[in-house]
Amino acid sequence: MDRYALIGNPVEHSKSPLIHAAFASQTRQELSYQALLAPLDGFSDTVRMFRAEGGRGANITVPFKIEACSLATRLTERAKLAGAVNTLTFMDDDILGDNTDGIGLVRDLIINLACPLASRHVLLLGAGGAARGALFPLLQTKPASLTIVNRTVERAQKLRSAFSPHAGQTTFTAGGFKDLGGWEFDVVINATSASLQNETLPLPGNIFAHDAFAYDMMYNASGTSFLNWARAAGVARFSDGLGMLVEQAAESFALWRGVRPSSASVLSKLRLQLASHD
Ligand code: NDP
Repeated sequence: MDRYALIGNPVEHSKSPLIHAAFASQTRQELSYQALLAPLDGFSDTVRMFRAEGGRGANITVPFKIEACSLATRLTERAKLAGAVNTLTFMDDDILGDNTDGIGLVRDLIINLACPLASRHVLLLGAGGAARGALFPLLQTKPASLTIVNRTVERAQKLRSAFSPHAGQTTFTAGGFKDLGGWEFDVVINATSASLQNETLPLPGNIFAHDAFAYDMMYNASGTSFLNWARAAGVARFSDGLGMLVEQAAESFALWRGVRPSSASVLSKLRLQLASHD
């Protein structure tokens, strides 16, 4: 049986084994997928051992996504640009590194949530790993404008410089929260970890255009602090990042198995599970 794994630290609460088991049963693929805890100083040894035991591929999570980038012998363009890898495919002579987080976000927005990005004004909050992974796939959707805002302004500016060759016709700008006064956006994506600490971002309440969409990469059952704030500001269309999680997994699965699973039933199952654990 072909073996796959999620490698990270910690991994015990990960939903990835459940997601991949559901994809395998739905597409009638014979495979196993386990969560593998790697010691903080033993990521590459864990990968090597798993590969030697017949592993075909692995998803990589916190805190090893950057280390996985160096371990890969070949990188997809989106992984190279993200500077981080969440999917390794073990080939005969190569280890291919990919990053499916950003395309997972884009597919969740456009397909699952019917929120188009082309020709829209998009605001991305945050300049950490998740924002970096999202930028290239977001620019590929050809928004009218893409603005990155971060607490540490220089990090947003560095991202803008790194990704501006890929901006095409999109007006691409970067700044701090205080620069947002007077601007309106059609789609606002929170890629900060502020919701994890239940903190509210210093955003003006009037950043949302008519019928705007608010998206938080974080997810929980009770609603994140960012989404609660957006609803209070009058936003009627919003989502957390559970769909992004399922879509990035679907993209990895398609890469490994050559067949794209349907994510809708898996997402509903996870949503129910999340609600019952709250
Ligand atoms: P990082 O630690 O790499 O980056 C954190 C970012 O959040 C930085 O931009 C940081 O700003 C900002 N930040 C943190 N606290 C605050 C605050 N109190 N106020 C304002 N800004 C703040 O984290 P990641 O990029 O890896 O993750 C970001 C979020 O995305 C997390 O909630 C994570 O759970 C989620 N995520 C979801 C995924 C999914 O599949 N749904 C996949 C990956 C991530 P500064 O630079 O100033 O420190």
